[in-house]
Amino acid sequence: MIGGLGGAPTQGGCSRAGCREAAVWRIDWRNPRIHTGERGKTWLACDEHVGYLREFLESRSFPVGVIAFEHTGDAATDASAGGRA
Ligand SMILES: [Zn+2]
Repeated sequence: MIGGLGGAPTQGGCSRAGCREAAVWRIDWRNPRIHTGERGKTWLACDEHVGYLREFLESRSFPVGVIAFEHTGDAATDASAGGRA
């Protein structure tokens, strides 16, 4: 089981136990044995732990996807290119 590493993914902090760094990566993964269909889990990770967490999941042959995690209100880039007419 993978207890202890989970948690609410929307807090913006790294999901690695004991780490309090702000997350910059989002790790979407799924355990085919317990997550069916579209269900899955999301972890957040800081730069230091994204590799650890991804390898942790990949070593278990879980489908893993890593994408950049965007903080809201942090260097917002939307609406900066003149979308309004
Ligand atoms: Zn971390």
